[in-house]
Amino acid sequence: MERLAFIGLGIMGRGMVHNLLKAGYPVTVWNRTASRMDEFTALGARAATSPADAAAHADLVMCCVSDTPDVERVLLGEDGAVHGAQAGMLFIDLSTISPKATRQMAATLRAHGIGLLDAPVSGGSEGAERGTLSIMVGGEADDFARAEPVLRAIGKTITHVGASGSGQSTKLVNQILCVANMLAAGEALLLAQASGLDLGKTLQAVGGGAGGSWMLVNRGAQVIRRDFRPGFTIDLQQKDLRLVLEAAEDLGLPLSLTATIHGFYSVLQRQGLGHEGNHALVKALENLSGITIGGGHA
Ligand code: NAP
Repeated sequence: MERLAFIGLGIMGRGMVHNLLKAGYPVTVWNRTASRMDEFTALGARAATSPADAAAHADLVMCCVSDTPDVERVLLGEDGAVHGAQAGMLFIDLSTISPKATRQMAATLRAHGIGLLDAPVSGGSEGAERGTLSIMVGGEADDFARAEPVLRAIGKTITHVGASGSGQSTKLVNQILCVANMLAAGEALLLAQASGLDLGKTLQAVGGGAGGSWMLVNRGAQVIRRDFRPGFTIDLQQKDLRLVLEAAEDLGLPLSLTATIHGFYSVLQRQGLGHEGNHALVKALENLSGITIGGGHA
């Protein structure tokens, strides 16, 4: 069995590491805020002192951190994983970051005999906990074949979509669908509220129909309960939409719906709501309409 290192024990990393340990893999963990490693050492994981130390005890290094500079820091920085790595090692980046930067990092690592797969995930914190993530993988076919059994421990739909960077590009496609579905769910619930419908029954009636979506069923239910705790924060969602809009600009594409939603989230960030879940997008619609979903007129 491959020895694993896992860097980044945030909302997503935590669930993934639990499932890797459950599957029986020996795991070394590292997290910037060291106290987050305690729950895993209690389960038999080894705590590393740096990403380099984590890599020195592993055959395969996985990371799930916030943004492009954070991945660059934990893989290539001063005490980054590359400094503990042997030739033949494979890195799997589960974060959502820039496809362009991913291709550059893959080329840098290849010069050291190290492989890099971009393997961003979708399925929310629930998917990470349950091991049912969708994982979109870019990189070399033989690296994918090596990583697949490990990815099976954390995901359900695992697709090798193409060369380095394609996993990240596919994830950006996914992010347009997520925010567009959330906007649609918000508008739909707003109409339901204004029409005096029972919101729980409305969700039950339409959730499994042709207009249903993961965002409606999971996050719509949270909206009705006025529960805006994050599975995925607005701040990270905005990072993804920035990546989508940068890619669109490079390709000369008018992604007007995404640009509108990015604008709504910017307003919410300015109101100090960046730490709330991305379903708080409905608050932008509530501000415009003066109606609170699940709470009557504002
Ligand atoms: P999170 O809960 O905010 O966790 C972020 C993790 O990254 C933490 O472990 C944090 O360490 C670490 N980190 C950030 N900057 C770092 C740096 N410069 N050096 C070292 N460690 C750093 O975020 P998350 O929701 O787990 O998301 C992680 C990644 O998964 C993001 O790329 C996100 O877009 C993607 N993703 C998230 C979801 C979701 O539903 N949440 C779904 C799909 C994909 P500390 O503990 O020290 O802060």
